[in-house]
Amino acid sequence: MPSFLLLKEMIKALHRCVTTRYPFGPPATIIHGYRGQPEIDKEKCTGCGACAQACSTEAIRIKQGEDTRIIDIFYGKCAFCQRCEDVCPEDAIRLTERFELAGYEKESLRVYNELKMSKCANCGHTFFPDKQIEIMKKRVLENIKANIKTEVQSDLEKYSRYCVNCRRSLSFTMDTHTRKWY
Ligand code: SF4
Ligand code: SF4
Repeated sequence: MPSFLLLKEMIKALHRCVTTRYPFGPPATIIHGYRGQPEIDKEKCTGCGACAQACSTEAIRIKQGEDTRIIDIFYGKCAFCQRCEDVCPEDAIRLTERFELAGYEKESLRVYNELKMSKCANCGHTFFPDKQIEIMKKRVLENIKANIKTEVQSDLEKYSRYCVNCRRSLSFTMDTHTRKWY
């Protein structure tokens, strides 16, 4: 009697809740560890671009300008895979428990972080964001032996003003080639 069983199930369905009364009922309870909307901490982010490289759906993109680098996150393409959080060296991007992404405008699903770029003191090309260079200098100095810290610090100040190509070609004239330590 399949039709009788079907009718019985239909009558039962009239009396029980088969889905949440979204958006009219109480907010849904999110389980701990739920992977929702990623959030970027603009203070911590150095603009290194690691998250964009790791992003599985290209929801994070780098927009490289002459003076600025923009980290552009579009939640409409996000697969909530958490790779951006895994690779970020600054702990600046984290998945939240927010799942509500509905909106009338596509732009409401987009977040930007704009960072100022450094220009090479020799060739004038932009290379890394200012913030990334400052963090790099800080980390190097934190991990250097006390007896060479002063000398390394002065080299770092010189080096950090030049792009990778100019550092390579100018390292002897700047007297910052690694050979000086041997
Ligand atoms: S990996 Fe982290 S620090 Fe680097 S651009 Fe992305 S959010 Fe910013
Ligand atoms: S969670 Fe995954 S898809 Fe979403 S922004 Fe991060 S890396 Fe990209």
